[in-house]
Amino acid sequence: MRRSGSQSVAFRGKIGEPAKDPDTGDLVQIAEFSGLTKAGKYYLEAPGVGRSWEFSIGADAFARAFYLSMRSYYGQRCGTAVDLGPKFPGYKHAACHAQGAYHVSSGKSGAAPSSKGWHDAGDYGRYIVNSGISTGTLLWTWEVFGARLKQIKLDLPETGNGTPDILNEIRWNLDWMLSMQDSDGGVWAKQTSERFCDFVPPEKDGSVSYVIGSGKEPYKTSCATADFAAVMAIAARVYRPFDASYADKCLVAARAAWGWLEKNPEVHFRNPAGVSTGEYGDNNCGDELLWASAELNRTTSDTVYEKYFLDHYAAFLKTIRATEPPGWADVGALGLWTYALGHGKNADAAAAITHASTDAANQIVARTAKNLYRTSLTASNYIWGSNGVAANYGMQLLVTNELKKDQRYVDTAFDNLHYLLGRNTFSISWVTQVGENPYHHPHHRPSGGLAEPWPGLLSGGPNRGRQDDAMRKKLPNGPPAKMYLDELASYASNEIAINWNAPLVFVLAGTLVAN
Ligand SMILES: [Zn+2]
Repeated sequence: MRRSGSQSVAFRGKIGEPAKDPDTGDLVQIAEFSGLTKAGKYYLEAPGVGRSWEFSIGADAFARAFYLSMRSYYGQRCGTAVDLGPKFPGYKHAACHAQGAYHVSSGKSGAAPSSKGWHDAGDYGRYIVNSGISTGTLLWTWEVFGARLKQIKLDLPETGNGTPDILNEIRWNLDWMLSMQDSDGGVWAKQTSERFCDFVPPEKDGSVSYVIGSGKEPYKTSCATADFAAVMAIAARVYRPFDASYADKCLVAARAAWGWLEKNPEVHFRNPAGVSTGEYGDNNCGDELLWASAELNRTTSDTVYEKYFLDHYAAFLKTIRATEPPGWADVGALGLWTYALGHGKNADAAAAITHASTDAANQIVARTAKNLYRTSLTASNYIWGSNGVAANYGMQLLVTNELKKDQRYVDTAFDNLHYLLGRNTFSISWVTQVGENPYHHPHHRPSGGLAEPWPGLLSGGPNRGRQDDAMRKKLPNGPPAKMYLDELASYASNEIAINWNAPLVFVLAGTLVAN
């Protein structure tokens, strides 16, 4: 190990024997330098191999990565002009998507609100289901790590208003979600154009933002409504100290959504005729209802929500898995975890949840220790958004650490972070503008044509499915962890999305030191 700048030797160690990594086909040698703890900037040099990119060791090594990845949500804001400021000249857009209307599939007609929210991904749609897990994950970031976050400024228009900035940013999306609830308590699936627009900046997309429903009675759908109920229930307890009337509003919305779900527990969404934007289709809303009941119970302690949770939770224990962390279609584990984290009253249920969580975490720790890149990803995890899966493994381990403290869970969570930030087969940082060798060409409309993309955005990452033409053309079907292209055209391996950035934010928050 050499010091950046002076190039003087800071640490010497013996490099391990080469071993074959099946997921990449690489011959990997382990260079262990945990003994080097002095803060500074370094690079690794190995005779016959070469030198690494420079990286930092220190308590604040991930502070900027946290700032940029959380602030990326400000960059995704819809319905307002955005400007990242003088330190990021040129990263700005004018107000966008102000024209809203009820789509014929929504059961209503005429003008609709189109206000606030985050652009979902590389496109400009806003989707309740994906907003649900993203916003829920970010609210949990606050609940678990708030003491470390409350002083962090994200340089937002709201900075300095007395509310922590992470909550200022999350509220932008909550406000849009609130606008998607009908008077009967149900929530429409999404607000998007009918099809994806061209690769233009957001204010140049002149299409109408439709509130889109299922096309038939009751038009609103259950997974969206349940995710909404869960998120609004969390918001009701999180915002209480800062804005009690807003917390009340969120709680009323969450209860109304639950009331609708009692009558409509399994109404599924499919894209209606003429609509081809993201679907987030899901044939089973039982896990979403479990999550909603658990968050409502944690916030209110009302027996109606706890009864639903206790009647249903046992069937979901097996969804706390060692081989697949939660995702947008699979949120049962979030319901279980929030019950245990919130000290749910039923001790047997809480103990069963903790046991299932530590059992899975122990398996993840053991597997990751054997992986030569020290990622928790299995060969079958290299799917669309595999980097989000890696981040969600990190979140799963850190949540389990909240249930039962174990330093191995923390270390393994951070192993996944190291994988995402450069310790991978491409030696690349999959977060834009983070590290010395970040990727450059996300499938992200506002970044199209820029020399450097908007900062803080996690790439989807390697995807063995190769569902886009660029991948099929340029990548022969090889080892799964190699199936990645840093090209704008590769939406199947290089798009960005709010639900992949959210667990990255969660894990990065776990690295921060309280101040
Ligand atoms: Zn917009």
